[in-house]
Amino acid sequence: MMGKTHALSGAMAFGLVAVPAAPLAHLHPRELVLGTVVTAGAAVLPDIDHPGSGVSRTFGPLTRVFARLVGWISGGHRNGTHSLLGAAVFNLAVFGATALYAQSLLWLVGGLALSILLAAAGLLIAAAEPPGRGKGKPAYKRRWHGVVSIWIGSATVSALAVAALLFPRHTGVGVLAALLILTMAAVARLVKTRRLFGVRLKHEWDDALPIPVTVALLALGADLRIVPFAVLLGVLTHIAGDMITLGGCPLAWPRSQTMRGPQLFRTNSPIETGPITLVCLAVFAVTACWNTGILTALGA
Ligand SMILES: [Zn+2]
Repeated sequence: MMGKTHALSGAMAFGLVAVPAAPLAHLHPRELVLGTVVTAGAAVLPDIDHPGSGVSRTFGPLTRVFARLVGWISGGHRNGTHSLLGAAVFNLAVFGATALYAQSLLWLVGGLALSILLAAAGLLIAAAEPPGRGKGKPAYKRRWHGVVSIWIGSATVSALAVAALLFPRHTGVGVLAALLILTMAAVARLVKTRRLFGVRLKHEWDDALPIPVTVALLALGADLRIVPFAVLLGVLTHIAGDMITLGGCPLAWPRSQTMRGPQLFRTNSPIETGPITLVCLAVFAVTACWNTGILTALGA
């Protein structure tokens, strides 16, 4: 699926989830806006496993080098980051950061429980596979890549754990800020504006804009507790989106490499750019009107 469709489907998914969740969790309109943007951005995040993807080119060489590292650790494009285990890792990182930010262990416990559920679902899918299936591209191009990836992953987790012990709030804010900047920049990149009110703009502005926006959000003490839910929803929406395009996703990576999903059409096909985009836009527009009370006001 193309980056634009992923982002749009993420915004749509947040709108749909917010219909029952917004009144229950008393979500304020500003949280709805933040949740929509972060979900749309997180819906392109799994493609950070490929240096050529839009999200990997967001901050030039910086994000491209990071994308190469992620691709290496996750076994290449449409591999680890497109699996339930990958979703569990994204989820644990963002819930862990929120626990430090909100200074409450409950977030870590909740995030850990969700991640265990996701990883267990991946294992169950692999276990339920009939013998002889499970053939696909390898989990890693070479076996030793997997071993080195475990070492790199362990070193990263240890470094974050030490930082969290020494500077708990700063570490939480740092990880959340990095995620916010990356997801917002990914969205801004997709809706590039070369002109604003007739003024020609350098095209880098939309990549850099999320930095002052994030600084302002943090300085103003914005409530960021919507971010972990938005990131999880965005990542899962991305995986679901790639499952309906040819190629599918290795949900049970690295235990099984079977590419799963109905795989109905190819990426950037007329079905994706036509009916799929239109349906996503229409559902997003209706849910946005409903969640902000516009539909209720019109009916009153
Ligand atoms: Zn993808």
